[in-house]
Amino acid sequence: MGSLSGEILRPKHNLKGANNMDLKLTGKKAIVCAASKGLGLAVASELYREGCELVICARNQAELTHAAALIANHAGRTRAPHTLIADLSSPGTLVDFAHKAMNLLGGIDILVNNIGGPPPSSAEETTLAAWQKGFEQIFLSASLMTQAVIPTMKEQRFGRILTITSMSVMEPIDHLVVSTAMRAAVTTFMKTLSKELAPYGITANTVMPGVIHTDRIVNLRKAKAEREGTSLDIEMDKTARAIPVGRLGEPQELADLVTFLASPRAGYITGANIPVDGGMRHSW
Ligand code: NAD
Repeated sequence: MGSLSGEILRPKHNLKGANNMDLKLTGKKAIVCAASKGLGLAVASELYREGCELVICARNQAELTHAAALIANHAGRTRAPHTLIADLSSPGTLVDFAHKAMNLLGGIDILVNNIGGPPPSSAEETTLAAWQKGFEQIFLSASLMTQAVIPTMKEQRFGRILTITSMSVMEPIDHLVVSTAMRAAVTTFMKTLSKELAPYGITANTVMPGVIHTDRIVNLRKAKAEREGTSLDIEMDKTARAIPVGRLGEPQELADLVTFLASPRAGYITGANIPVDGGMRHSW
């Protein structure tokens, strides 16, 4: 579970035959950032299955090639999506990466901003270096990528910009202050942007995962088990019991929402922050 296997692309419940809504995504050109595993991989897989042309990126070519094969297999398409190596936490290279991706696609309709999360730290003890790194990793990766695709989207009067953030934006998580603070900044950037771009047929939304079963979640629970002298099974079980639906989410369940928001069908939804959390948040 949570590895680069096809397993994480499969919903646990039976959604076969539920694909009757034409999302009108065939031929749409999409970039999905940080898509060699986890949430990015699931989103890329679903967009590809819906007929998008696709560029995926991550830092490791072997993992990207493997992910591209999984995505093609999931979509039942013989040709794999384009892959580009990019370190999204390196702001100086982002505009170049965005232009390379748009050249490969011959344009851009959909941008999905995503990146790995920063390491844990407390609000009191976070260092200047950690704040600066977090700003580049979480805020600049999303804002600079977005700014790079806007001119083309404006010209064609169509675009979908999605950023994967975290439920911590609404309910801060202990010891994840860099992630939480920077994702709040991204959220207000996206909200501001949604108003600027609405007249051009471009939507900008954020999606907030609660606890979705990926490598990151398994690694965080392993670290907690070590700290507290428990086991991974115990920590995963505690996590599931704290969620009203009684289980972690599947990457596919977040991907389904992102895919809908990326489609022409979602043209009246913009400036929204939408949770995918199994009812976990306490606020309304
Ligand atoms: P993951 O660790 O399973 O996957 C992260 C992906 O990002 C991998 O493909 C990795 O190669 C890529 N990546 C990491 N850093 C990169 C960089 N600098 N440049 C390019 N690619 C990079 O994580 P995930 O669970 O899929 O989470 C994705 C994002 O969503 C993370 O920021 C995470 O903090 C956030 N999030 C996830 C959850 C969850 O439940 N899974 C909950 C809240 C927030």
